[in-house]
Amino acid sequence: MSEEEARIWNELGKITDPEIPALTLTEMKVIRSVRVNGKVTVVFSPTYVGCPATAQIMQEIRTCVAALGYREIAIETSFTPPWSTDMLDEDAREKLRMFGIAPPPDDASDIASALELAVHCPSCKSDQTTLESSFGSALCRQIFYCRSCRQSFERIKPI
Ligand SMILES: [Zn+2]
Repeated sequence: MSEEEARIWNELGKITDPEIPALTLTEMKVIRSVRVNGKVTVVFSPTYVGCPATAQIMQEIRTCVAALGYREIAIETSFTPPWSTDMLDEDAREKLRMFGIAPPPDDASDIASALELAVHCPSCKSDQTTLESSFGSALCRQIFYCRSCRQSFERIKPI
């Protein structure tokens, strides 16, 4: 990565995800690549097909790159390989917990077992939790209820 590309990457890392404000776009691993070659090309991978925040994120990427003085900006989306919650590293998972959102299970590739795994409450760590609704405040979140501390919390849906 060139110095110029690294600078853009660094700036994109200051944009928070509109759906999950605890994490930035680079922490969410949704920025796939940055290329500077006359024009700037940013390859972005939406977390969910049809995620309603996609258009907003693309606009924010464009505004951010334009603020660095670039005129020709192309933002491409890529679904290969598809984004997966497995891409979140341990730092990102810890930030989610601090924000009060339960991170997805470590390995979501086996969806059947991921669905059966106990979801731990981000406040009290209890596993006495139940799924209340598959759709939280954003499409990619689920609402759980903790029977130990009697609070609802959100979890990032494993994909
Ligand atoms: Zn709890």
